[in-house]
Amino acid sequence: DSMPPSADTSSASNILAAPKRIETRLYINGEFRDAVSGKTFTLVNPATDEPVAQIAEADKEDVDAAVDAAEAAYPAWRDMDGHARAACLRKLAALIRENVDAFAYLEAVSMGRPVYNYDNDCEFAAASIEYMAGAIHHLHGETSLQSDGYLNLTLRQPFGVCAAIIPWNVPMIMFAWKLGPCLAAGNTLVLKSSEKAPLTSIKMAELIHQAGFPPGVINIIGGFGPTAGAAMAKHMKVRKIAFTGSARTGKLIQEMASQSNLKNVTLELGGKSPCVVFDDADIDAAVAGSQFSIQWNSGQICIANSRIYVHEKIAEEFTQKFVKSFGSVKIGNPLDKDTRHGPQADKLQLANIKRFLEKGKAEGGELLLGGAQVTMDGTEASGDEAKGCFVHPTVFSNVPESATIVKEEIFGPVLAINTFTSEDEVLARCNDTEYGLYAAVYTKSLDRAIKFAKGMEAGTVGVNCTSPSGLFVDMPFGGFKQSGVGRECGMDSLHHWSEVKTVAIKLS
Ligand code: NAD
Repeated sequence: DSMPPSADTSSASNILAAPKRIETRLYINGEFRDAVSGKTFTLVNPATDEPVAQIAEADKEDVDAAVDAAEAAYPAWRDMDGHARAACLRKLAALIRENVDAFAYLEAVSMGRPVYNYDNDCEFAAASIEYMAGAIHHLHGETSLQSDGYLNLTLRQPFGVCAAIIPWNVPMIMFAWKLGPCLAAGNTLVLKSSEKAPLTSIKMAELIHQAGFPPGVINIIGGFGPTAGAAMAKHMKVRKIAFTGSARTGKLIQEMASQSNLKNVTLELGGKSPCVVFDDADIDAAVAGSQFSIQWNSGQICIANSRIYVHEKIAEEFTQKFVKSFGSVKIGNPLDKDTRHGPQADKLQLANIKRFLEKGKAEGGELLLGGAQVTMDGTEASGDEAKGCFVHPTVFSNVPESATIVKEEIFGPVLAINTFTSEDEVLARCNDTEYGLYAAVYTKSLDRAIKFAKGMEAGTVGVNCTSPSGLFVDMPFGGFKQSGVGRECGMDSLHHWSEVKTVAIKLS
């Protein structure tokens, strides 16, 4: 649903309080410890530019220690009864639900996620882990009597030590989507958080400890990609790596995996998701859905519909309603429960988005809303001296299809609304991209909906809904083309975290 801006009732009581203590260290072999080098890095609040914490910075030696711990813990975890492994996962899910406020605070001060509605993220993460706990008993092989003299069967077995590298944009959900199936399939895990949002994962480590997972089964490290991340991707003892992040880094991970031990690789990468609105659609529903899609998390969502194609007959009405609605979201401190639009994750993201805004203006788009950096209260900011990393919700229209802002992932609250006339023409424009994560179509015609569901080149297609609708714990999620390799959620995900073995039993 769209998030209607609420009346401005800001007061101190609307500001979420900080947790009593914030853990910042690595979690290896069941204990919190500093990095071997003793190094830390500073995490900065993107709403205020103030330092939040010094985070332990892992490097190769810490990755080696984490992998050794995961290797030592592996046989016992693999052989543990499925019910016992499921019980640990369910306990962790319950603890996530009990700690919503702490996680909300930590994400708000790390990467600027508004605390409003944050219980949805926790609920989705907890439910994803519970699904995987239940799925343990559905991770079956097959049997065959088709070959004379044999009973043949397949076993689903774990890889061993696995690695996961997650991004900063939805750290809670990304964490759960990796941890749940990895552990359910009987693997042990070394997970690296993003340097922009390490606190969610460290808080998770505390809960993992409480949930009773044996030491070494899950190891959590903070640190940077080219050092700790690369050490994981190149590690000879890591048999599988799952990555979510940019396509550029995904390609590096695959390269490092192939140059080391050919470890199994799954990737969830970027998107440039189209949303098509036909003239027979429920216009208000399409406005509400597509506006929330780009507003959620300040546009920092891989599945955000950043390209909207509206039928020319309804373009004026749709665009007017969209701009009005997007233009009235309440910008503010992400810790304020009334805020609907927070800052971008950091200065780097802000600078990237500002470059896209300039390109949008230069390459022929018509600017209908926003187009500039703002301060926490939503007024235009003049430049680098402005505090925080806020960007005003931005709408361009009539943008040439070849323009950078139509082609490249912006990862910000910026979108292009273009018009179309025919079905085939708009379908071709939707598919004219190297990405293929999510696509949406609004229409009342069943035939047309099915034509687009079949024809859109994306891992998920929303019909009369758009992202983040269409994500479910039991339905596979992932990318066509350069949006990824493999799937997360559902049984597909669990299968990606296990190897298949054929056992041939000769009958005498
Ligand atoms: P990123 O690729 O810069 O970083 C992601 C992670 O990779 C971080 O933990 C980072 O430390 C690590 N990393 C960076 N360089 C590395 C290297 N050389 N070796 C090993 N690890 C390295 O991406 P980001 O900026 O954190 O995230 C934004 C991107 O993630 C966007 O493109 C977005 O679309 C994508 N994303 C995709 C999904 C999905 O499910 N498809 C979900 C969320 C985000």
